[in-house]
Amino acid sequence: MRKVADCREYPSESGCTLTIAGSEEEVLVAAAQHAQAVHGHTDSPELREELRKLLKDEEPGR
Ligand SMILES: [Zn+2]
Repeated sequence: MRKVADCREYPSESGCTLTIAGSEEEVLVAAAQHAQAVHGHTDSPELREELRKLLKDEEPGR
């Protein structure tokens, strides 16, 4: 099952609506890059741990 990271559920000032879907590792890598590029975060184990908490199982049939 794929994992989904929905930026709308992550508090941000930019009102970002990006959704990233893929395997857990793919989503973590992409989300960490996105967090750096768009949200000004620094990539770190702590950031990835935060991102991991945001992952949800992709809902089937969508
Ligand atoms: Zn975002």
